[in-house]
Amino acid sequence: LLEIRQLKKSFGDLQVIKNISLKVEQGEVVAIIGPSGSGKSTLLRCATMLESIDAGDILYLGESAFNSDKDGTPHKVTGAELKKIRSYFGLVFQDFNLFPHFSVIKNVTDALIHTQNKSKEEAYDIGRKLLAKMGLSEKENAYPFQLSGGQQQRVSIARALALNPKVLFFDEPTSALDPELTSEVLKVIKSLAKEHMTMVIVTHEMNFAKEVANHVIFMDEGVIAEEGTPEEVFGNPKSDRTKAFIKGYQ
Ligand code: ATP
Ligand code: MG
Repeated sequence: LLEIRQLKKSFGDLQVIKNISLKVEQGEVVAIIGPSGSGKSTLLRCATMLESIDAGDILYLGESAFNSDKDGTPHKVTGAELKKIRSYFGLVFQDFNLFPHFSVIKNVTDALIHTQNKSKEEAYDIGRKLLAKMGLSEKENAYPFQLSGGQQQRVSIARALALNPKVLFFDEPTSALDPELTSEVLKVIKSLAKEHMTMVIVTHEMNFAKEVANHVIFMDEGVIAEEGTPEEVFGNPKSDRTKAFIKGYQ
């Protein structure tokens, strides 16, 4: 479904992604863990075309999201191709990123109406089903400021799901939340995993990663330092660096 090939990304002199290749198959849940500054968010931003890349390639369903210059510099594809590739993924951020002046239902349905040209009736129908799934039916007309952080994050998950993405990316979806609110968001993500939603999740919640992921990637200083099943990475880490990192969470 998604393949990243030999990705490199620098900000000025700082090489943040050194040479990362990975594959995400349909139905897989990939957890990305690693210390602060190791390049996890940058990797997600490159995969979702919020950042340009310096070298390598990103492919969705075998289609490249980048074209190369004669000298090999990758450039985002443009126009209709870009729109199509963007329709393959959804993104949920740490800080929810809801539109503050839109009601909950409007947050969830706005893109359906304005980018997918659905009728208001059809969009609201989809939106209400998703809000029900998120346990938020009663909040349809509330505004983001009237919701708890956990509720806001569930609205932002509903908003991402409304566009029916093939893969959902999460960048630390619970790190702005209290433990109690964290568990309600993690429950929603777990239920999506049970439905075989393909997900790539950057998280500091090690127990959650252990429980929900099929594949765990440990990033350190811009490279994949170790990867494998949760049993392999958490149960029997190979490198001292991974061991030390995991130990820090116990
Ligand atoms: P955290 O766990 O703290 O979220 P992270 O693994 O997500 O960390 P990134 O946000 O990807 O790390 O950042 C990796 C490095 O790239 C950091 O040193 C950061 O300062 C740098 N960086 C990220 N974005 C930019 C940018 N737009 N301009 C310059 N440097 C950046
Ligand atoms: Mg980050």
